[in-house]
Amino acid sequence: MFEKADRLKRLPPYLFKEIDRKKSEMRAKGVDIIDLGIGDPDLPTPAHIIEAVQEAASDPSNHRYPSYSGMHEFRTAVAQWYKTRFGVDLAPEKEVLALIGSKEGIAHLPLAFINPGDVALVPTPGYPVYHTATLFAGGEPYYMPLHKENGFLPDLKAIPESVVHRARVMFINYPNNPTAAVAEVSFFERVIDFARRHRILVCHDAAYSEVAYDGFKPPSFLQAPGAKDVGLEFHSLSKTYNMTGWRVGFAVGNSEAIEGLGAIKSNVDSGVFQAVQIAAIKALRHDQSSVRDTNHVYQQRRDLMVKGLREAGFDLETPKASFYLWIRVPKGHTSTQIATKLLEQGVVVTPGNGFGEPGEGYFRIALTQGKARLEEALRRIKKVAL
Ligand SMILES: *Cc1c(COP(=O)(O)O)cnc(C)c1O
Repeated sequence: MFEKADRLKRLPPYLFKEIDRKKSEMRAKGVDIIDLGIGDPDLPTPAHIIEAVQEAASDPSNHRYPSYSGMHEFRTAVAQWYKTRFGVDLAPEKEVLALIGSKEGIAHLPLAFINPGDVALVPTPGYPVYHTATLFAGGEPYYMPLHKENGFLPDLKAIPESVVHRARVMFINYPNNPTAAVAEVSFFERVIDFARRHRILVCHDAAYSEVAYDGFKPPSFLQAPGAKDVGLEFHSLSKTYNMTGWRVGFAVGNSEAIEGLGAIKSNVDSGVFQAVQIAAIKALRHDQSSVRDTNHVYQQRRDLMVKGLREAGFDLETPKASFYLWIRVPKGHTSTQIATKLLEQGVVVTPGNGFGEPGEGYFRIALTQGKARLEEALRRIKKVAL
């Protein structure tokens, strides 16, 4: 009876239908399934953050509409955290905006800066929201393929002139989901030069900036000179503090970009629940030992899985950051075939082509299961005849 709007019809086909069907069929039969498919931390939110929300939730002054752009104390805490972590100064009122999770900000950004027919440069394989948000704004995604030969960084010189002319926005994401690649400040400098020449707004998704190993500290886009002239950065408390369900993040950077995004948001949502903002302030101001502890757990899981997968004959890099492993599909198989074979053993992985065509030939594992489950997954993976 109700014809769906064209923007919904423009969404790409969902590629995991068949795998999802098999998964539910197996679950219904009572098969024990180990899900390494979802990027959602299994560890709990640290206790000091939970205590802060409990207390704040009981205070009636937090029950009213929050300010659209975030409490002053929240934006100040973000600026202070940023200064300590990255050595970058931010003006809390103009250069920081609270988000209902970074996904919300990423999804709304194209509405502020993309007109119908404008191009957004989108990395592929990549987080799907960059291209769906572009489509919803009437824009055209131009896919920048991420290849292993380039360290999974986009090749800016390979983007045709005719596309560059129409491009208004560029999305990048490091540490990267799904490839687990990292970027140095020198890459951000090249992006800034490109963006300045072509008047493109750079949106760096830094959701995994704090999930890193072996002492590596992923840089912020804003650490590169001139970054604030051309772009902004999206952050999330979701992965850093195991707070995916809480829905809180922030955008920082260029004040015009922050203002534009804020103008869209003030017409769509009414801000982040103050009790959640107060807990987020606690998370940012507290000592960051919980982050170190969480990373330590992921690092042990990473080492276990990298070793086990190599023993099983798989080819993969040891990631420096993010909680993903990006694994080559053995020769003679497709991503979907491998995912299907592993599912038959009760192990769910994500086929790389689901993140975009250049992801074909890979599959992704999330390290969001405990050690015993990962060991069991390895036993099952080793049974898959390649
Ligand atoms: C998880 C994730 C996000 C979204 O996180 P929020 O919970 O919305 O803050 C954004 N980008 C990438 C690449 C992610 O993996």
